[in-house]
Amino acid sequence: MAIQVKTPLVEIDGDEMTRIIWQLVKDELLRPYLDMPTVYYDLHIKRRDETDDQITVDAAKAIAQYGVGVKCATITPNEARVKEYGLKKAWPSPNGTIRGILDGTVFRAPIVVQNIPPTVRTWKKPIIIGRHAYGDVYKNQEMQIKKPGKAEIVFTPADGSEPTRLTVMDFKGPGVFQGIHNTEKSIRSFARACINYAIALRVPLWFGAKDTISKTYHAYFRDIFQDEVDRHKAEMDAAGVQYFYTLIDDAVARVMRHEGGFLWACMNYDGDVMSDMLASGFGSLALMTSVLVSPDGPMEFEAAHGTVQKHYYAHLRGEPTSTNSTATIFAWTGALARRGELDGTPEVVDFAKKLEAAVIETIESGVMTKDLVNVAEGPTQQVSTEGFISAVRERLESKL
Ligand code: NAP
Ligand code: MG
Repeated sequence: MAIQVKTPLVEIDGDEMTRIIWQLVKDELLRPYLDMPTVYYDLHIKRRDETDDQITVDAAKAIAQYGVGVKCATITPNEARVKEYGLKKAWPSPNGTIRGILDGTVFRAPIVVQNIPPTVRTWKKPIIIGRHAYGDVYKNQEMQIKKPGKAEIVFTPADGSEPTRLTVMDFKGPGVFQGIHNTEKSIRSFARACINYAIALRVPLWFGAKDTISKTYHAYFRDIFQDEVDRHKAEMDAAGVQYFYTLIDDAVARVMRHEGGFLWACMNYDGDVMSDMLASGFGSLALMTSVLVSPDGPMEFEAAHGTVQKHYYAHLRGEPTSTNSTATIFAWTGALARRGELDGTPEVVDFAKKLEAAVIETIESGVMTKDLVNVAEGPTQQVSTEGFISAVRERLESKL
C-alpha cells in the first residue's frame, strides 16, 4: 500500500535533461510507493515567458505558504536562450527570484560515496557551504559607458536630508561600472542560519570576506557576523561549535589542505563559485545537494547542478545518455524527509532514507553513470540515465 504524504509538496518543474530526469524519478521511484499530493508549478522557460515570470513568484510564495518545496534545475536565460526559445526577454534567474522572496541561505553538501574518493587528498569529511543568497552582484545595477563622463554612487535619504555622493570613476573613455547592495537584516539572518545549521550539525563554522580591500562593504559582513556569533555564544559553546573568521583567500588556501567536516559560510558570489569547486572536488556536480533555508523555516530542496544542456541535445538526437540523477533524487528525499518531520509522519521520513540508501548502495556496487565512472575506484559498470534509475528501483524494492 502506498505511503501517504499528508501536506502537499510544492513541486517546481524545470528544463532540458533535468526535466526528463524529473519525470523518470517521479514515475519510477516515487509515485509507485507514495500517495503524494503536490502543488505543481511549471517553470519551463516557455511557461515563464508566457506568464512574464509571474509563475516563478507564485512558486516562491507557495513555498513560503506550504513550508517545503522541491525544484528541478531551470534555464537562466541569456541572449543565446532568448534566441533559442524565442523569448520576450532574458528573464532573471528563477533561483535568484526565489531566494530574494524567501530571503534564504543556501546550504550545499556533497553526497559522500565510498568508492568516489575526493580529488583533494586531505578531504575526509564533507565540507558544507552556506551561501548567502541575497544581494551583492546578483541584485545589481550595471551600466556600460560608451563615452567619457563621471560615474557616481548617490544615496538620497528618505527624510529629505542632503544626498551623499561618491565618484566611482571619472571615465576618460569607454568602460563599465556597477552598483551592488546588501541589507543588515539579510546579513543577520544569513549569519543566524549558518549558526543554527552549524549547531544542528555540531561542526565548526568558518566565514571569510575580503575586508582588507573592501573596508566598508565586506567589513560590514564581518562585523555583523561576529555580532551574531557573540549573541549566540552560549548555544554555540554548548554544542562545541567554534567560530573562525579569516580572509577569503586564506580560507580558500586552508580548505585545500583541510580534512573537512565544517560549515563554510560564504558571501553570495564566493558561495556560487566555491560550491562548484567543492562539488567537482568531491566527485561530481551530480553528487551535490542544495537546500535554501528561509529564516522563518520554509525550505526548498534542489540539485546543485544545472539543466545538463549537452546531454539534452544528445537525448533529442536520439542518442543514449548517461546523466546522473543522484542529486535530483536527493532533492526529493530531502523534501520528503522534511515534510515528514513537519507532518509527524515517520513512515515518509523512513521511505526517504531508504531511497537515499538505495542510491548510495547502487553506486557503491559499481553501477553508475558516466560522470562517476571516470572518477570512481574499483570495478564499475556504466549505465544509461534510465538504467541507473532502474537499478536504484530494484534496490529500493528489496528494502520496502
Ligand atoms: P550544468 O547543467 O550543471 O552542466 C555542466 C556540465 O556538468 C554538463 O555538461 C556535464 O558535463 C556535467 N553535469 C552536470 N550535471 C550532471 C549530471 N547530473 N550528470 C552528469 N553530468 C552532469 O551547467 P551548464 O551547462 O553550465 O548550464 C546549463 C543550464 O543550466 C544553463 O541554462 C544554466 O542557466 C542552468 N543552470 C541552472 C541551475 C539551477 O537551476 N539550479 C544551476 C546552474 C545552471 P559533460 O557535458 O562533460 O558530461
Ligand atoms: Mg555556481
